[in-house]
Amino acid sequence: MAAYDFFSRRTHMQKRAPCEKCGKMVAPYESVRLGSIEEGYQHLCMACTNAEIAEHAGVDFKHPEYLPMKLTDVEGIEHEFHFNTRLLGNRVAISALEIKNDEPHGYSFEVLTNNPEEDTLELFRRLFDRMQRALSQRHLNVDEYGLHITKPDIVRARIDYDLENPESGPLLVIDGKEVAWDEFGRMLMSFEGFQFKMEIYDISEER
Ligand SMILES: [Zn+2]
Repeated sequence: MAAYDFFSRRTHMQKRAPCEKCGKMVAPYESVRLGSIEEGYQHLCMACTNAEIAEHAGVDFKHPEYLPMKLTDVEGIEHEFHFNTRLLGNRVAISALEIKNDEPHGYSFEVLTNNPEEDTLELFRRLFDRMQRALSQRHLNVDEYGLHITKPDIVRARIDYDLENPESGPLLVIDGKEVAWDEFGRMLMSFEGFQFKMEIYDISEER
């Protein structure tokens, strides 16, 4: 098994296609291209992918299916999340992607464990708690002058990219909203003369 390509979170305009093993119709964000250049690739759902990986790694792994869920943020706005459980050899990751119009947009979370034979329910609880904490936070607010950073002066963001506008610099996702790099720069102008420090960390971490 030479490759494990999780489809890009922002594959644009890609349609659902059947899993080549079980026939289930799956969206790009809930499927994987599994295989190698020599043997070719298969488009598989997560359950079939995990079964292949479990066999290859000699791991006893039960693939859990978590149904999509709607959560409400601190402003009363509903967000729909889809879950993916991925067996990564000796680790397991569960991710939650916010889906709008059948494409990932907005919030994205992931938790990891180093024990693939452990009950994934505990891992799911950890993910769910993290989602709830994030949805109750606000780093930006909007007034007649536009978006600005709330107090205390901390911003947590995910670094994404704009497929339609790759020259425009990184696209930030803050409070589940897409914020252009230039827009973020404008927000910093109200802090002229101040300093800041920037930490970059994995999506599975929370800080
Ligand atoms: Zn399948």
